Amino acid sequence: GRSTREWQAADAAHFLHPFTDFKALAARGARIVTRGEGIYLWDSEGHRILDAMSGLWCVNVGYGQQPLIDAATRQMQELPFYNAFFQTSTPPAIELAELLAKLAPPQFKHVFFASSGSESNDTVVRMVRRYWALMGQPQRQVIISRWNGYHGSTMAGASLGGMPGMHEQGGLPIPGIVHIGQPHWWEHGRALGLSREEFGLKAAQWLEDKILEVGPENVAAFIGEPVQGAGGVVVPPDTYWPEIQRICDRYGILLVSDEVICGFGRTGHWFGCERFGTRPDLITFAKGVTSGYVPLGGVLVGERVAQALIEKGGEFTHGYTYSGHPVACAVGVANLQLVRRLKLVERVRDDTGPYMAELYQRIAAHPLVGEVQSCGLMGAITLVRDKATNAPFPAEVDIAMVCRGHCFGNGLIMRAVGDRMIVAPPLVITRAQLDEMAALIQRCLDLTLADATR
Ligand code: PLP
Repeated sequence: GRSTREWQAADAAHFLHPFTDFKALAARGARIVTRGEGIYLWDSEGHRILDAMSGLWCVNVGYGQQPLIDAATRQMQELPFYNAFFQTSTPPAIELAELLAKLAPPQFKHVFFASSGSESNDTVVRMVRRYWALMGQPQRQVIISRWNGYHGSTMAGASLGGMPGMHEQGGLPIPGIVHIGQPHWWEHGRALGLSREEFGLKAAQWLEDKILEVGPENVAAFIGEPVQGAGGVVVPPDTYWPEIQRICDRYGILLVSDEVICGFGRTGHWFGCERFGTRPDLITFAKGVTSGYVPLGGVLVGERVAQALIEKGGEFTHGYTYSGHPVACAVGVANLQLVRRLKLVERVRDDTGPYMAELYQRIAAHPLVGEVQSCGLMGAITLVRDKATNAPFPAEVDIAMVCRGHCFGNGLIMRAVGDRMIVAPPLVITRAQLDEMAALIQRCLDLTLADATR
């Protein structure tokens, strides 16, 4: 094997990493991750790391699950690839479509496959515009999404998203995509003196205001993540989503739930829309469908849209070489069967989710912590300079990055977003492992506090 330094040199010489400052990476060298087992990773130096982010919110069943490995191996031997274009199909794609229809809310009987969350959201943009054209309202082109949402990195995905810094590169958003504010009480509601519940209604009202500004006859759809993930695990007030549903119903607008993170148990429900009480017309998914073992995504298409596409549509001129990839779908089936067999969704809802919330309440007492939020097995910790007033750190002290550095040095992966530290551990995590995670978080907060008060 090569030494860590050799890996790092070759990496910096040839590999342009996503969402990475190339020079900073070259200066510091990447951490080379070599192995995974359960909720732990090992790097090329032999350090064990508790992966509290499940990779990128995806390795829900943990690393090293034999049923997924076997399913991929079997399918590669049997038929590594065939497409779903031109009236052909393969057994794994059919089985996964059937299983997804069983697991999804009752209005979903159909699925369109892609290979990532970005592709799935791109599919949605074309599909909702096609739907309205078929319904005789082709002027309904506008899709409303939210600032600080994340929907992927393709031209449409990045346009739908509202993350700082993404629109500036590439001349985005593409036409017909507009944004409203996010239901982030800590950021936007507190200063207005509103309770969480009041603020939830106000943030939903921004949707109606935007619909009226654009003209309801021009609006195709609203898209949002049930809990904003990459934006910092922003758990919306309980008043928010029911009000969004009411507004979409009122103007006949399609509701799209981006469940790329929330889908398949993360919130303690099969889909996040079930946790928050909405009835979306479309659901996009990826990540947890295969626990990230192989790339797969897709769009669950509710009967309202499916019927129009099937009955009125003729050919939908859209698709990817890997739509319904047999190996990916075989792994998807094995993964979802494992999630069922291990009762992971129920475990998150009744056991590990509430237990993590309890642990987070204890973390909330830390002098560096302004508030904590969690939903199922996703959580956020907001760091403040002054606990009494909740005053934030000045912008030049990137406190979350300081904390992330300590996580790095102490065998824990947490993600830093603005002034928040976020986690989304594998759904197989046990209570004892959650205790271990919480102890590591406390230690890293202590070390960060020591730095901040030095
Ligand atoms: N939508 C959400 C909510 C996501 O979190 C992500 C990725 O993090 C995406 C879409 C994009 O998925 P992908 O990176 O698979 O294209």
